[in-house]
Amino acid sequence: MPETAFVSGRFLPLADAKVPIEDRGFQFGDGVYEVIRTYGGRPFKLEAHFARLNRSAKALDLRQPYSLEQWDGYISEGLRLAGFRESKIYLQITRGVAPRDHAFPPDLQPTVVMTIRELHALPTAVQAAGVDAMTVQDLRWGRCDIKSLNLLPNVLARQQAKQAGVFEAILVKNGEVTEGSVSNVMVVEGRTLITAPEGPLILSGVTREVVLALARREGLGLKECCPSREQLYAATEVFLTGTTVELLSVVRIDGKVIGTGQPGPVTRSLAKRFAEQTA
Ligand code: PMP
Repeated sequence: MPETAFVSGRFLPLADAKVPIEDRGFQFGDGVYEVIRTYGGRPFKLEAHFARLNRSAKALDLRQPYSLEQWDGYISEGLRLAGFRESKIYLQITRGVAPRDHAFPPDLQPTVVMTIRELHALPTAVQAAGVDAMTVQDLRWGRCDIKSLNLLPNVLARQQAKQAGVFEAILVKNGEVTEGSVSNVMVVEGRTLITAPEGPLILSGVTREVVLALARREGLGLKECCPSREQLYAATEVFLTGTTVELLSVVRIDGKVIGTGQPGPVTRSLAKRFAEQTA
């Protein structure tokens, strides 16, 4: 079974997987999710993703039905059934199925879904050259730390970027850079990293945490505050972090060249350390 799905305890081919139309995930985006990738066929930082899934579920008063050991077992089984060299694992928990009403009944049975698809890493040429980005107004709600299914502002921002022919939309709220539509944003000033603090303005990235630990080990300065748009343009380097983008240099933003217009030494060195961790 190549592309594999798991729906509330049962594995089946992805193309055959279905959920009822009154699932609250479908009607309200009432649910949470995680995206995990494998390195060497094994899920990377599963514990951190599990912890974030639990935090997100708790914040929405949603029951997360499985333990880490159960998730580990289901993921291993799914990876075995799918049989890809590297996989992208998508987990989703919704509040469950109920007649449509904004308020929800107590004790609903959550719907748990997992999909396993082949992971297609960014071409090495793209990674080596870096990417373009554009700034987009951050229109999201006040709890971006919850990895909820409500992604419309992210969807529209990424679409805007795609239509503009650039890789990522960098979200700006009140003149300050929060994060990307699918990534966290790191601004480098010399030997100092500046990035938005954990809290309601951003999704606390698993990759962000790994990279910040590497940065501390490299002796880089660290400022956890939202960079201004001016700081973004004037940075010596800018890069993105995320499960799918890993560490990705941004060499132009809104048509303005960042630093030398090529991936800089801080980004390259951290990307090398990151690659060592995931090898
Ligand atoms: N911010 C947003 C909005 C994202 O969608 C993602 C991707 N999940 C990230 C940051 C990066 O998080 P992670 O490193 O855990 O993939």
